[in-house]
Amino acid sequence: MFDYHVHTLFCGHAYGSMEEYVLRAVELGLEEIGFSGHYPYPPSFEETLPNCVIPAQSHPVYLAEAARLREAYRDRIVVRIGAEFDYLGDGQSFHPLDEARRLGLDFCLASVHLVDGVAVDYTPELLEKNLQRFTGGIDGVYDRYYRTLLEMVAPGYCTTVGHLDLVKKFNTLAGLAPGLDHSSMVEQVLERIASSGIAVEINTSGWDKPCGEQYPAIGILKKALELGIALTAGSDAHRPEEVGRHFDRLKVLLNQLGVRQLMRFEKLQAVPCDI
Ligand SMILES: [Zn+2]
Ligand SMILES: [Zn+2]
Repeated sequence: MFDYHVHTLFCGHAYGSMEEYVLRAVELGLEEIGFSGHYPYPPSFEETLPNCVIPAQSHPVYLAEAARLREAYRDRIVVRIGAEFDYLGDGQSFHPLDEARRLGLDFCLASVHLVDGVAVDYTPELLEKNLQRFTGGIDGVYDRYYRTLLEMVAPGYCTTVGHLDLVKKFNTLAGLAPGLDHSSMVEQVLERIASSGIAVEINTSGWDKPCGEQYPAIGILKKALELGIALTAGSDAHRPEEVGRHFDRLKVLLNQLGVRQLMRFEKLQAVPCDI
């Protein structure tokens, strides 16, 4: 197995050195670990949202440390270097895959965390406080989340979509459960992902959140497989001990879905691997 979604101290809100994450992955016997540090925001965003991403001035240090670890541990584990890019809507000043190519990254994860400037995954209190900004309340948030995702996905935009149904994170909490069925929007997103040749990540962090299940939900995964979308896996670790979290459950899930292959990435090329 491998873990392609790992944050570290560099991200401001995660803990532990990059080396501690590699050591944990070695201890678990993983074949690969992929660093997916949050890519720096444009300067205007960084001021309003501190400690969400790797600051621009630290990013070269992050890359250099990942490259050092790749060499130092090459006999024990494969270290992949990637980034998680935040889709900030139209007018974003960089293009993730181009940026990843320029930096020589192995994979390029793209995610939506902010919908019309509101973080859907930060705290339930923050989401609740901002609900009145969306027509239809929480259902309005879901609708805008999937519309934003639909806007993001395009051929050559990224290698992988992160935590596809992240908007459900707090769905078991009072007032934050959607009342409407958003599956037709999800299907549109999946169809666009399929026609763009992009992979979808199974993110095991959801098992530790109020939603109580992996991202994305099993119904979405089934539809993704029907459409021939490739899958990859990540823990979204924010502490070294979270590397490879719930991978036993993940294996059961993959078995249940009949998935025999997951996608790894090397220098932005997809490499199918039997599991
Ligand atoms: Zn994320
Ligand atoms: Zn993440």
